[in-house]
Amino acid sequence: MSKRISKDFAAALLVALAGSVVGPHPVRAAAPPLHDQVPGFYRTKVGDFEVTALFDGAAQFDLNWLTAKKVTMDGVAKALHKNPHLLDTNDTGFLVNTGKELVLVDAGAGTWFGGGALGHLVSSLHSAGYSPEQVDRVLVTHLHSDHIGGLTTQDGKRVFPNADVFVAKPENDFWLSPEIAAKAPKDTQPFFQAAQAISAPYLKAGKWHTFGDTDPLVDGVRVVSLHGHTPGHTGYEFSSQGHKILFWGDTIHEQLPQLSHADITVVFDIDHAAAAAIRKQLFPALASEAAVIAGPHMPFPGIGRLRKEANGYVWAPVIFTEQWVEK
Ligand SMILES: [Zn+2]
Repeated sequence: MSKRISKDFAAALLVALAGSVVGPHPVRAAAPPLHDQVPGFYRTKVGDFEVTALFDGAAQFDLNWLTAKKVTMDGVAKALHKNPHLLDTNDTGFLVNTGKELVLVDAGAGTWFGGGALGHLVSSLHSAGYSPEQVDRVLVTHLHSDHIGGLTTQDGKRVFPNADVFVAKPENDFWLSPEIAAKAPKDTQPFFQAAQAISAPYLKAGKWHTFGDTDPLVDGVRVVSLHGHTPGHTGYEFSSQGHKILFWGDTIHEQLPQLSHADITVVFDIDHAAAAAIRKQLFPALASEAAVIAGPHMPFPGIGRLRKEANGYVWAPVIFTEQWVEK
């Protein structure tokens, strides 16, 4: 650089700097906060299948809903004191476009589970470019109202008028039995009542179906029995072109405590020992395969993998990308 150019450059820089200090500025109002969020869906590919996670809502789990040995629960209470968001959770349903059919796995809570915070699945479905009328099948992991409430309005109308709903036979026979309901503890009665009311319009229309462990359901779908949380709690493994995703329902309610302590159960488990045993059996297998998992109560979009750590497992969530192809 010659001395002459260098001098001109220094002069220009001084003018620019001076302008930035004393030059005229347009008066700008402070930008208001906008409060809204991105639409509640997340899309991914599993082989030829397109999977769309549909946000139903966010909620907070109550510490008293977790059960374990006193020493374990003391540890969870301490961790919650340090991190008040430890028990934050989501509810999510998953839509699979197989290329032949639109299959919904769990339908969110609708208006059947507490007020307000849940029940946004249909709005997320519209945001994702689909309408309830287009859904061909709904596979439900179990008949708790945070998974089937979205199927039916409070006045008994089918939200998915063209869908056939599929549920494991032991699950159906438990929650829809008036005899079992009559003998159930008082605090579980609302689950029975909701399951019966939600299923009623589909039963009436001949669109409610039960299946056994070995019955074929949809091409590329394997039924995975995960009973424990409920008598017919069921996972669905979708496979396409050598890629797989396991929809594991309520195998986990609270990922932080339950991934490090598989023996922590929830008061909603019908068979606590079986629910814990399923986790102990699944975690090492899924972690070693780096299997893709979709869980309604995992942090939205509820899709990720398990990774082994010294003291248990951690959730490795998918990251947000414009287009994400499972590898
Ligand atoms: Zn649930």
